[in-house]
Amino acid sequence: MSNDLLTELGAKLVAGSLTDERLMALSADNPDVRILPDANVVKLGGQSIIDRGRKAVFPLMDEIVANLPDHKMILGTGAGTRARHGYSVGINLGLPTGVLSVLGTFVSMQNARMIHYLLAKHGIPFIEPIQFPQLPLYLSERQAVVFFGMPPYTFWQRNPKVGRLPPHRTDTGSYLVSEVFGARSMIYVKDEDGLYTADPKKDRNAKFIPKITVSELMALDLNDMVVEWPVLEFMQNARHARTIRIVNGLVEGNLTRALNGEDVGTIITAD
Ligand code: ADP
Ligand code: MG
Repeated sequence: MSNDLLTELGAKLVAGSLTDERLMALSADNPDVRILPDANVVKLGGQSIIDRGRKAVFPLMDEIVANLPDHKMILGTGAGTRARHGYSVGINLGLPTGVLSVLGTFVSMQNARMIHYLLAKHGIPFIEPIQFPQLPLYLSERQAVVFFGMPPYTFWQRNPKVGRLPPHRTDTGSYLVSEVFGARSMIYVKDEDGLYTADPKKDRNAKFIPKITVSELMALDLNDMVVEWPVLEFMQNARHARTIRIVNGLVEGNLTRALNGEDVGTIITAD
């Protein structure tokens, strides 16, 4: 390839070392394109929402449908209690993290299928990772899609530092979708008002935290967290998704408020 066809960066990348930090820094010199800047990624909790059944899910389905005229939504699903049971059996059988990751993926897919069938009459499709190239079309035609929240690493899931559970689960998979597409927002719909100083289900004195930065939150070193810890790690290097919001989906109207950018739940921002 003739070198004069290459940009300066191109010439350096072709010939240089891909472990040279200065060269790597040059590769981020221009702004990233926001691929779907109008889309909101909304993760519906597995244990926190979907496992609660119709009482929690039906009002949210109504709220999603009511927001279709105004907001594009990429709806991710959690896995929840059935995944935890699957993990426990898998662990008992001595299966590795990558296999546990496969199990969790299929449970989040079950949840995505259920949400999809509830929304099917509104023309909202379920997509697997292989169908993501059609995502822009579905969003412009129908305003929303349903996907399973697990990152599709399956066997390629990394081992955690401690224990054997897949560290990157559905909070992380949903977050990564919002980052790569440069989505307008990343909203976690769960069953508490947001982040507290401790799990409010276990500690009556837990204090609500309406707004916090990733580094402040990491410094708190909480025992228990409302989102998967790796989401915070990914946020540190985010090009787009530098804010996430956690709302209580058991309270009617909260998702709508979050979609409208109103002050609801907890906001976590990268510094
Ligand atoms: P999902 O089903 O969406 O994956 P999880 O059950 O994994 O949700 O996480 C949400 C739960 O995390 C909440 O229901 C809450 O009980 C718990 N939790 C643990 N620590 C905290 C915290 N510091 N602040 C708020 N909630 C917390
Ligand atoms: Mg969870």
